[in-house]
Amino acid sequence: MTALVDIAHATKRYGTLEAVRDISFALEPGQTVALVGHNGAGKTTLIKLMLGLVRPTEGSVRVLGEDPAGGGTEARRRLGYLPESVSFNTALTGREVLAFYARLKSEPVAGIQALLDRVGLAKAADRRIGTYSKGMRQRLGLAQALIGTPQLLLLDEPTTGLDPGLRMEFYEIVGELSDRGATVVLSSHVLTELEERTERVLIVSRGHLVADGTIDELRRIAELPAKVRVSVAPGEAERLRGLMGDPASGRTFNGHRVEFDVTPSEKIELLRRAAGAGDLIRDIDVVPPSLDELYAHFLRKETP
Ligand code: ATP
Repeated sequence: MTALVDIAHATKRYGTLEAVRDISFALEPGQTVALVGHNGAGKTTLIKLMLGLVRPTEGSVRVLGEDPAGGGTEARRRLGYLPESVSFNTALTGREVLAFYARLKSEPVAGIQALLDRVGLAKAADRRIGTYSKGMRQRLGLAQALIGTPQLLLLDEPTTGLDPGLRMEFYEIVGELSDRGATVVLSSHVLTELEERTERVLIVSRGHLVADGTIDELRRIAELPAKVRVSVAPGEAERLRGLMGDPASGRTFNGHRVEFDVTPSEKIELLRRAAGAGDLIRDIDVVPPSLDELYAHFLRKETP
C-alpha cells in the first residue's frame, strides 16, 4: 500500500535549534494517529512539514505522493488542517468564511451547507463570528478543515475549549472520516482522550521520535505494570491479601478494595488465585497502563 505520508530522516533547524531531528515515519490510509509531546517538542513543526509550510533542512517529506512544499496544488486540495489557535474575521458569518475557504480550495460552495449541518452550526451559519462561543469557533474551524473531503487531516490541539459533549461529537466526526479512509493526525495534551480514539501513537521529545506504535505495542515495549483492582466485602481486604500471597503486595482502599501492580505474567497468576477466592471477591477490574503513564515512561527513557 502506498503511504499517504512518508517522512524520511527529516530534520528541521531554525538557526542552531533543531526543532525536528532525524524523524522517519509513514502513515497509511485510514489511520488515526496521536501526535504527543511536551511544549516545544516539535509537533507543530512536524505538522508544518507535512503541510509544506516549512521545508526540511535535511531528509525528505512526501504527502499524497508529492513534495508538499513543492508548489503542487493537487495534494494540497486533499489536505485538511485545523491550526492550534483558530481565528477568523469576526465581522464575517460562518457561512461566508466557509465559502471563502471552499473557493480557495476550488471546491463547490454549495457543499458547505452539509458541513454546517455536520458540525451543528446550521442555525448560526448567518450570524457574525463575533457572536460565536469558543466551541462554535472551534466547530467552524473543523468544518473549514473538512472542506473537500480531505484524505489527510492534520488537527493541532483540536479539542481545546470544547466541553465534554462537543468533544464526543468531535470524535464521532473523526471516526466517520477514518471509516471512509481518511488519515487523521491529532496532536493533543489531553492524553486520556486520545487513548480510546487513536490506533497509533507517535511520541516526540526534544525533536526526536521516541516511540511509534499502537498503544498495545507501546505497552509491551514499556513493560509497565497493569493494575488489578479487586473489590471485596467491607473489612475483608486483609483476608484477600493473605490469600493472594506473592505478588500480593497490594494496597488497600476503604477496607474493601485492594489494588495490585502486576506484570503481564503476574497478572494471570493473580487472576487465577482470585478465581480461587470464591465468594470473597465482589468485582475485579484490570487496568492497563494509560497513555499518560506510557508517555511519562518514554520521556523518562529519553531524559536520563
Ligand atoms: P507546543 O505543544 O508548545 O505547541 P510543539 O511541540 O508544537 O509545542 P514546535 O512549535 O514544533 O513545538 O517547536 C519546536 C521547537 O522549535 C521549539 O523550541 C520552538 O521554539 C522552535 N521553533 C518553532 N518554530 C520556530 C521558528 N519559526 N523559529 C525559531 N524557532 C522555532
